Amino acid sequence: MAQRILPAIAAGLFAASLATSVLAQAPQTPPYATTKVEGTDNVYIFRYANHQSMFIVTKAGVIATDPISLRRPAAKAYIEEIRKITQAPIKYVIYSHAHYDHIAGGKPFKDLGATFIAHKNAKARIVELKPVDVVVPDEVVDRQKTINLGGTTLELIYVGRNHSDSTLVMRLPKEKIIFTVDWIPLAAIQFREMADTYIPDLEEGLKKVIAMDWNMLIAGHPGPGGRQTGNKDDARNQLAYLQDLSAAVKKAVSEGKSYADAEKEIKLPKYEKWGGYEAFLQMNIERYYDFHNRGI
Ligand SMILES: [Zn+2]
Repeated sequence: MAQRILPAIAAGLFAASLATSVLAQAPQTPPYATTKVEGTDNVYIFRYANHQSMFIVTKAGVIATDPISLRRPAAKAYIEEIRKITQAPIKYVIYSHAHYDHIAGGKPFKDLGATFIAHKNAKARIVELKPVDVVVPDEVVDRQKTINLGGTTLELIYVGRNHSDSTLVMRLPKEKIIFTVDWIPLAAIQFREMADTYIPDLEEGLKKVIAMDWNMLIAGHPGPGGRQTGNKDDARNQLAYLQDLSAAVKKAVSEGKSYADAEKEIKLPKYEKWGGYEAFLQMNIERYYDFHNRGI
């Protein structure tokens, strides 16, 4: 009995010490914060825990994006933060893609009369799966849609499938900023086993985004050190990572290696300092193994 209980106690202590170390670092990082994007008059990032969302303030109203409120009251804080800057109406909420951790909890925005916009595949999925607490989009984007509000132009561009089949690239042409979520992480490898991700479309999409005119990327999650924005090098580096990963896994498959051996043997030291390297590299390898081994 003691043998069965002891590991549980050890695991509990380990979890407790992890929690303590997280708490010990916590005071520097408030649960949410709003940052004005450097070099702009009216573009902001709202961060809540480890998710972030772009919003734009104009005299004619506010364009908000992802509510990032899955099982937490982020939207309330988001609206309060907007209200510290402007009393102008919140005209739009635009979803980056269909994943609930980014789009849940928009009801407080809906109650204020905002129009919700998403890619048409996001709306189809939301209507089909009826996730709890996700506002159904009022309008959809197919290939491209442009919003003009109070002197700001925002393009909503679909470059094809990547991290989902509903990801938009939101581009501010005057400011040369893009906001696009989850598929161009800042100095990080891809999340877990790359669920919902389309290969090789992901790499093709990156080439399209790199060819577009912009200087700053606002990502859906801060990178290492809390960095909230990136640039084209982040997109180029992500493409290089995927190409290096793909080539290494393709070689392992061609040599007849098993999943287990490929996951154990493939190392990509160029990226070992990136977020997620230790935790997710084997899962990223598995995703590419399936692609090269079975075409799935
Ligand atoms: Zn996602």
